[in-house]
Amino acid sequence: MTSEAQRQNALDAIDRHAAELRAVSQFIHDHPEIALEEVESSNAAADILEKLGFDVERGIAGLGTAFRATAGSDDGPHIAFLAEYDALPGVGHGCGHNLIALSALAAGVGARSALEGRHGRITVFGTPAEEAVGGKVIMKDAGIFDDVDAAMGAHPGDAEAWCPTVPGSGEALACQGVTIAFRGQAAHAAADPFNGINALDGIILTFNGINALRQHVKSDARLHGIIVKGGDAANVIPDYAEAFFFVRAATQTYMYELVEKVRRIAEGAALMTGATLEFSFPEPASWDMITNYTLANALKANIDRVGLALPEAKAQEANGSTDWGNVSYTVPSVETAYPIINRVCTWHSQDVVDAAESELGYGNTFLVAKAMALTAIDLIENPETLTAIKTEFTEARDRRIAAR
Ligand SMILES: [Zn+2]
Repeated sequence: MTSEAQRQNALDAIDRHAAELRAVSQFIHDHPEIALEEVESSNAAADILEKLGFDVERGIAGLGTAFRATAGSDDGPHIAFLAEYDALPGVGHGCGHNLIALSALAAGVGARSALEGRHGRITVFGTPAEEAVGGKVIMKDAGIFDDVDAAMGAHPGDAEAWCPTVPGSGEALACQGVTIAFRGQAAHAAADPFNGINALDGIILTFNGINALRQHVKSDARLHGIIVKGGDAANVIPDYAEAFFFVRAATQTYMYELVEKVRRIAEGAALMTGATLEFSFPEPASWDMITNYTLANALKANIDRVGLALPEAKAQEANGSTDWGNVSYTVPSVETAYPIINRVCTWHSQDVVDAAESELGYGNTFLVAKAMALTAIDLIENPETLTAIKTEFTEARDRRIAAR
């Protein structure tokens, strides 16, 4: 079969299975499950891939809701699509991860149908817990992505969403979650407060210290937190209080420098109150993102080919974080953005919940999936493109490692 016929095969396969693929995405949307609880969502995604001919392994890297669905042979390039499906607590699919799942599933189904007579492997990875915990970090640390040659994904966005094709676009902030807890001494807040040690004061002083630090951090840094526990009753001196913070910066070095400053602020709060500090990292850090621009441009060419219009990419300071950052140190990666709404809107909101099941949302997700499938076929067909991708990857990764 000619390569043009195989490309058409891939597009036809996506169209042929569009209704059942969309139904899976709608199911995930209608049954929002938060990080590590995506049992029904991950099963729905894995089930359809199994039904459509993939070998599926569930519960990989010690994560019950992670899966690997693979097809093809080991004597050629191994191209991966990363699916996410976790929702936001209280919001539902306000980040559109049901569409991320759909784009990866559809791209996998399309690319697989073009494998006949070729040497190569297509894998759809189910990567849980992007919004919290960082499932991809755990999967990466377990070596799940070690044999992958290139990884692609698509994240919904608003009308300004683009494919990160130019240096300085597609960046992400390194991010560490920090739990800060204080243990004190309970006492009657009116009868004998002088016998109490106020754990909540430890938290409040930590917030004030971090607020003071904010004047003295570089513009790429983000420090933000919530009080998780602040006591049970106003007439009891709280003997336990807990806060959770995210510390983010453009580089891992600066992020860890700030984590140490936050630690010293909390130590100061412990000294002031007499409470005992417990400072811990409940989840692994996510790293800055190394977007592979050779891969991004290969994908963008196909985004143009399928007729999905996107604004031009430009270099821009990172403003979010993703667990894909860690993966991007192991595998040449691109996560393109694409619009699911016709205007600019706030993210993690009801607007996104609605857009994530709109006709525009589904339509553009299928287009970006087709572009990813065609790109996988290009990479399997053209070893020289993959070589260029790997050369860029090694140089960029070594530069980042030297700078951290
Ligand atoms: Zn997201």
